[in-house]
Amino acid sequence: MAIRVVVWGENIHDRENETVRKIYPKGMHGAIADALNKDKGIKAATATMDQPEHGLSQKLLDQTDVLTWWGHRNHGGVDDAIVERVAKRVWEGMGLIVLHSGHFSKIFRRLMGTPCSLTWREAGEKERVWTINRQHPIAQGLDPWFVIPETEMYGEPFLIPEPMETVFISWYDGGEVFRSGVTFQRGGGRIFYFSPGHEVYPIYKDRNVGQVLRNAVNWAYNPAKPWKGVEIAPNRPTEKAPEPITEKGPKLHKPGEEGLR
Ligand code: ZN
Repeated sequence: MAIRVVVWGENIHDRENETVRKIYPKGMHGAIADALNKDKGIKAATATMDQPEHGLSQKLLDQTDVLTWWGHRNHGGVDDAIVERVAKRVWEGMGLIVLHSGHFSKIFRRLMGTPCSLTWREAGEKERVWTINRQHPIAQGLDPWFVIPETEMYGEPFLIPEPMETVFISWYDGGEVFRSGVTFQRGGGRIFYFSPGHEVYPIYKDRNVGQVLRNAVNWAYNPAKPWKGVEIAPNRPTEKAPEPITEKGPKLHKPGEEGLR
């Protein structure tokens, strides 16, 4: 069975900005889904913020193996309940790919626990993406580096936790550098952040970027059954301990009491 992907798009600049509309007539989410669907092992559909529940019903998320996230203009407008719903699915094992300005999305900051801030500049400069982890599954089929002719600069310091793996580092005309492709694990779910993707440049039509996105989906896919109840803290009573033990010492909790929150 193909990997079931939902490409989530904020779909605001895609509709309101003429430059973005010209580059991405089907929206950025449409272009990202097209790039992913070039892989016969991937079945990518789209969901957008303006749909009921932002297009991310529990039923849809339960049938999603990997979610990709692109937002910029209105991160704050994303319903907190939906953010929690997505976070829980990641903990259960759903893969998450956060793109470009999604570094400031509620879901990315929720899962990272850090400001996720960076420096930036919109000057149409060149970005050289260095593949520094060449044996990594997300780097397969790529050259030692590739160039994005026009990009928005994202520079260090990037306030993320130390990544599990750094796959790409970018260098820009202006001299800054940035950890442009980094991985994390949260609960059962794998997370990949990839920075190229500013909306006024045709970056999601780039051959190398498409390869990165397809590789990332295959890497983030976890075929294991969802880890249901990953967020609860069950008490294991003394008589159910794997080895027989005798209770001793003072007690704070009553028998059968739920974990405190
Ligand atoms: Zn941007």
